This record gives sequence, structure tokens and C-alpha cells, in this order.
Amino acid sequence: MIFFVSLSSIFTKLKNTIMQTIETYDFTGKKALIRVDFNVPLNEKFEITDDTRMRAALPTINKVIEKGGSPIIMSHLGRPKEGPEDKFSLKHLVSHLSELLNGATVKIAPDCIGDEAKTIAKGLKPGEVLILENLRFYKEETAGDEEFAKKLAENGDCWINDAFGTAHRAHASTAVIAKFFPNDKMFGYVIGSELESLDKVLAQPTRPMTAIMGGAKVSSKITIIENMLDKVDNLILGGGMTYTFVKANGGKIGSSICEDDYLETALTIQKKAAEKGVKLYIASDVVAADDFSENANTQPAAADNIPDGWQGLDAGPESIATFKTVIENSGTILWNGPVGVFEFDKFAVGSRAVADAIATATKKGAFSLIGGGDSVACINKFGLADEVSYISTAGGALLEYLEGKTLPGIAAVRGE
Ligand code: AMP
Repeated sequence: MIFFVSLSSIFTKLKNTIMQTIETYDFTGKKALIRVDFNVPLNEKFEITDDTRMRAALPTINKVIEKGGSPIIMSHLGRPKEGPEDKFSLKHLVSHLSELLNGATVKIAPDCIGDEAKTIAKGLKPGEVLILENLRFYKEETAGDEEFAKKLAENGDCWINDAFGTAHRAHASTAVIAKFFPNDKMFGYVIGSELESLDKVLAQPTRPMTAIMGGAKVSSKITIIENMLDKVDNLILGGGMTYTFVKANGGKIGSSICEDDYLETALTIQKKAAEKGVKLYIASDVVAADDFSENANTQPAAADNIPDGWQGLDAGPESIATFKTVIENSGTILWNGPVGVFEFDKFAVGSRAVADAIATATKKGAFSLIGGGDSVACINKFGLADEVSYISTAGGALLEYLEGKTLPGIAAVRGE
């Protein structure tokens, strides 16, 4: 008897540790709750002006249909304040989703929980799709309320998390719901491919691994920089951050952007990089401007000798050449943040050179991941989106992942 009990408990434990995947799971006759990110922009006529997020979820939805299941879509849309608001209703997405699914039947439940939703969900035939009404019509969603998560769970037989953009939130539908599907939870393809790409960069990079961190401020990137110091061989720090580092080392930065509260931090980063054998690259020359504008007058300047009244707005040719060589000789590349004020063409030269070098390295076989709003905007602006390995548009969730934080929506599926 004792032997039997311990064997069965071992079996249960084993079963709990085996991760289900969308490839191996049997969806036949099952109602699959899929948490997607359908937070799409709508115009005043409630027409979808950019359906990228809906398209991203199609492979997961189609897989469930192909395997004989019925997808039940859960999402939020906009920021409803107090309960239901017509302008944030997911009913505006029904006909477009049907079109994207080649005419599949798409129903809408007027509420995301309750008897009516449950009845419609139960009555779905294989291949039919149901959209549950906006989750954020209930404040319990963002509060991560367990009772609300339980009611959501009652609509389906399994749970697929496919909303990477909200994976850093412990909301009812993104994390808490997992406990009601201990053996029937998995990632969809959106999260699956994000994690696969992030793993290639963070867990098993082909060396040398280079991170290019740019943007305006050290303060907003500090945790990522610190986490990267344990992972990279080369760290290029560019953009507005440059001047905090240059000033910390006694340089003259004119009126360039600088965070005086972070001068010590900059020196600590330099010290840690040296201790860990990470090669740190910071611009040695810059393009200085007499105004923060497209029409500013410019002059080349040494990064540590910028005249009074002038500010560095882009990397200079010597720095660009160095960045280019480092990037082109890398096996893995992570780019987060522009190395200049790329919104003005005049100061987009450095960021364009970084993007070109990443494309060249990728062609030579490197794995490149572009993440964070501004680097994605850069790569699109330069028309190089198809020449890099992976572009992540996840925003906050990506940044927290890069910071080394555990994301509740990921941990919930993995059972961590
Ligand atoms: P972040 O959101 O922190 O990634 O910062 C991106 C912003 O940093 C972009 O809008 C860039 O224009 C800006 N940026 C890059 N280089 C500089 C610079 N040298 N001075 C001021 N802003 C910069």
C-alpha cells in the first residue's frame, strides 16, 4: 500500500512537471481559453486601424481549430474606467477576426463570466470561435482576483497564454487562472517564439555576444545594464547615456543630456564591467548641435570636449566605425535603444549604422534581437525589419525580462 501511494504521488508530481505544449496537447472537442493581446487601436467609427496584434495570434488560434478544438478568446481592450463601455467592447473585433480566420464562425459573449458566457462556450462546435467580452470591464481582472479567475476558467477545458505584452502582470487572466488548469496550461506561439528568441540571446548566446543599449537616460536602463554585464562580452552604451558616463570621467559635455544623480552609478558600471571582463564601448566622438532640433547647426566634437552651449545628439564617425566592427564580429546581438536622436534624420546616422551593422552580422549568421519601442521604430524607419532575426514589440514585459525579473504570466505556465 505504502509502495502504491508513493508511486502514485511520484506519478502525479511527474505529470505536474511535464509542460504541455500547443503541439502535443490534444484539443479534440476541447474549449481552449486563449489569453491574447487584442488591444488594437480603433478609430471613431470603431474600425481597427492596425490589426498587427490580431494577426500575431492567428497561428495559435488556427492550431486549436486545426486540432479539433474551439478557441475562446480572452483579451482586454483600452482602459475602461468603471465597468462596461461600448467603445471598449470586443464586439468591434468580431467580423474582422472572422475575416482573418477565413470566414470561421466567431461569436461574442456579452460578458466574460457568468451563465450566458458558459452556455455559449459549452455550445461551441469544433472550429467555432468565441470572444469573451473585455476582461477589464471587471476591476477584478487587473487586481488578480482569484474568484474572478475561477469564473473565467469555468468557460474552458484548458488555458493558453499567448499575450507576452501582459506577461509581466499578475492579472486574473494572465497568471492567476493557471491554478485552475494544473495539467492543461501552455504557451501559445507568440509567447513561445518570444521566449525561444530571448533564450537564444540570454541563456545560450553564440559568442561573442554584444548588447547595444541606447536611449535617453541611464536611470531607465540601469537594471538591464547590470543584468547584461553577466551575459555579454561587449556592451555598447550610446545615445543620451553617453554624457553621464563622459561627465563621470571628468569630460566636458556642454549642454548634453546628463543625469547628475547617476555619475557614481556610471563609474560603478565601468568598474563592474572591468571586473567581469566585459568590453565597454562608449562614444569617443559625437555630433554636437547648438539646439535640440532638426535644423540645428552641427559640428564634430570629442565626446569629452563639447563646447559650452552645444549638445551631443549622435555618435561621431570614429565611434560609429568602432561600434560597426564590434557588431559585425558578434555571434549574438541585442539592441535596445537608439544611439542618437534618430527621430531627426540629421542625427540618425549612428543609429542607422548600428542597424546596418546588425543586418550585416545577421547575414553572416549572427542571431539578432531588436527590442524596445525606439529600436523597433529605428529598424522600421531604415527598412531593415526583414534583415534581423527577431523583433520584439512587447514593451514593458520585454524590459522586465531583460532586467532578469520573473514574469508572472510565464512562471504561471511553467508552474514556478
Ligand atoms: P529611451 O526611451 O530611453 O530608449 O530613449 C529613446 C530616446 O532617446 C529617443 O527618443 C532618442 O531621441 C533619445 N536620445 C538618443 N540619444 C540622445 C541624445 N544624445 N540626447 C538626447 N536624447 C537622445
